[in-house]
Amino acid sequence: MENTLQELLRCPYDGTKINEKLRCEKGHEFSENQYFINLLLQPIKLTGLDILNPIYEELWAPIGFYITSHNTYSSVLKEVANYVSGEIVADLGTGSGKIFDFMKCKVCIGLDRSENYLKRLKTKRPHVIGIRADLSEKIPLEDSSVDGTSMTFFLHMLSDKEKVLKEVYRITKPKGRVGAVVLANNNLISRILGSVWKLDIKTTPEYVELFKRAGFYVEDARVMGAWSLIKARKME
Ligand SMILES: [Zn+2]
Repeated sequence: MENTLQELLRCPYDGTKINEKLRCEKGHEFSENQYFINLLLQPIKLTGLDILNPIYEELWAPIGFYITSHNTYSSVLKEVANYVSGEIVADLGTGSGKIFDFMKCKVCIGLDRSENYLKRLKTKRPHVIGIRADLSEKIPLEDSSVDGTSMTFFLHMLSDKEKVLKEVYRITKPKGRVGAVVLANNNLISRILGSVWKLDIKTTPEYVELFKRAGFYVEDARVMGAWSLIKARKME
């Protein structure tokens, strides 16, 4: 494990530092393989998204997003990537890491809980550091350590959205940025998607409120069909 990375990583269970043998100060022992660092100790169930893995990036996401937003998948990823690019960037719920094709970063970290997607991430984008973690809990990164965080097609899937936004705020450097694309309760299509996926989806103003409550200054919130693009900054 590189030094920079070791400075950044924190135990997802207690927040203590993780040493070069991937052991935290309280004794949690983690592992790594050729694809990713595994900070998830308990097994998880596969989701529908895992089954879509082979076609998600090329087919499912671009077509689904275009139909429900009238914007292209690449153009929206590019916009978020441009906004959050910086020296150290984290992408939450990264999947196969498509957004990193548009991101400018020196330390590029993709976090996800799916082994299958992280394998695909490393195979397609070897410059990205893959970290396996449960992002509905503590984000395994140091306080004020990242310049930018992206979360595209991720936040609406979590039940406690406020908790993860507070975590994003914690890991963001002063003046750092976060860019999100979320399924929002904007129209009939979003309500249908929300009910099919059994999600509690918020309206765009409710999402903006959640970002503000976490401490962020919201610079932009734009409705794109069933989706909303939110850009926010940590002011101090
Ligand atoms: Zn620990």
